[in-house]
Amino acid sequence: MRRQPASTLRTTGNQASGFPLLIDGRWCEARDGARFSAHDPYLEQDWGEIADAGPADVDAAVVSAYDAFVDQRWSGLLASERARRLLHLADLIDRNATSLIHQQIFENGKLISEMQPGLAAVAGDCRFFAGLAETLQGATVAPSRPGFTTFTLREPMGVVAAITPWNTPLGLLAWKLFPALAAGNTVVIKPSEVTPTSTLMLAELALEAGIPDGAVNVVTGPARTGAALVGHPLVAKVAFTGSTATGQAIAAQAAGHTARVTLELGGKSPNILFADADVDRAVNGVMAGIFAATGQSCMAGSRVLVHTSLFDRFCEALAERGSRMIAGDPLDAATQLGPLASRAQLQKVLGYFDIARAEGLQCLTGGLRLPHQGYFVAPTVYADVPQDSRLAREEIFGPVAVVMRFDTETQAVAMANNTRYGLAAGIWTEDLRLAHRMIHRLRAGTVWVNNYRIIGHTLPFGGYGLSGIGREMGAAALEAYTETKSVWIDMGNPVEFATGPMGDRHGL
Ligand code: NAD
Repeated sequence: MRRQPASTLRTTGNQASGFPLLIDGRWCEARDGARFSAHDPYLEQDWGEIADAGPADVDAAVVSAYDAFVDQRWSGLLASERARRLLHLADLIDRNATSLIHQQIFENGKLISEMQPGLAAVAGDCRFFAGLAETLQGATVAPSRPGFTTFTLREPMGVVAAITPWNTPLGLLAWKLFPALAAGNTVVIKPSEVTPTSTLMLAELALEAGIPDGAVNVVTGPARTGAALVGHPLVAKVAFTGSTATGQAIAAQAAGHTARVTLELGGKSPNILFADADVDRAVNGVMAGIFAATGQSCMAGSRVLVHTSLFDRFCEALAERGSRMIAGDPLDAATQLGPLASRAQLQKVLGYFDIARAEGLQCLTGGLRLPHQGYFVAPTVYADVPQDSRLAREEIFGPVAVVMRFDTETQAVAMANNTRYGLAAGIWTEDLRLAHRMIHRLRAGTVWVNNYRIIGHTLPFGGYGLSGIGREMGAAALEAYTETKSVWIDMGNPVEFATGPMGDRHGL
């Protein structure tokens, strides 16, 4: 067993006693005492026990969040005070970065070299939304009837359910939790059953930062825990990141009580190299697009479209670089390729290798499990993959690049948009006019030109089509956690001015 760093956290840092739920500011076991195991995908070992929340636990968490919302213990604070506490939370995240980083690595095997900037971004996201808390504003609007003053207010929605996946649990929680809190909502978090403990640690820091009891709750458990949360009638909004199939099920269930939804779902994003691309830089960008995070990234550049003139040279370079990646302990700063996050994900990716063999795809490198402790597969490159191959159409969520060739710009656009997803796209060219044409023609929520997989809190992130509904991050994300209230004030003008000839002011 690897040595774990001493956690600075009190409640959730003590793994021996198991990881509890957080409901109404108190740490508690599931009512029926059920637990499930935390598993390290590098050591292939269980290492901890986590409370498995049932419907009664979920109900208690939602009621706690609802009560906290109704009595305004959080939304009733000045926005500047909410901001102050969120800034305190950001400082605590920085101060506890090592514990949080290690905890997430034990859960999903993400590399320490990726987690360090990732966690700094979590604190940065928190500061960004703290800064926005005081900017929330409605508008004074020209009245459409005489004798009235009209304006809008932005108000928090109530209880937000934040449901997160296992690939980037803290980063994707940050995109939901901080804007929801900044706008004055209360939150019930349901982290992935693969990665629950890092979220519990973050919640502990939220309590320490002065976020009131009940304003942040965490229920851990599998899909049925999430479904109990989504179906709860007191949940006003569901903010979800995960697979498209689950997102569709959540949207359907949320519709039953008209809960609002923001969905960040899957992708099959194209990374496109034109004839004039700087190939060395492009290879770096393609590597970052598909091999970073072991390909377990919603924005993975999993379809690489390459102009025929570069095709052989590019494929050779990508396969060579991929085959040289250093697989190993995610805690080692020199490691370049971590394990897949779970045995289930390993089986899924190995299944695609079988499909590739059955389809007769040309494999330039990889296509197999690495003979190594942990759920490792080799970085994999398939060349000249037909567009109707399952590997070209389906999200694999592993380090698997499918490379296809094109001859013309029109072909590149058609191939890039030949997907029902639309999360992201990359373009590699030195031709500014070509880049601008492509930016307009690609159906994707984010387009990178001569870079790939760069994100930050000031720009919105989200997808077209099967990749989701709504956007997270960017200043507008705050409004996605508010309702708009329209206000009509009758200014009490003398009655002959206030009414029309029929005394009717409604018009409806
Ligand atoms: P998943 O959909 O299986 O699970 C995501 C979360 O939803 C987990 O917490 C899970 O327990 C919960 N859940 C599952 N079924 C549920 C239900 N019926 N009701 C409520 N909750 C339910 O996804 P995953 O396997 O954890 O994550 C991988 C997926 O996430 C990939 O498809 C990837 O593309 C996607 N993803 C998208 C983005 C993005 O921003 N667009 C980012 C990261 C990951």
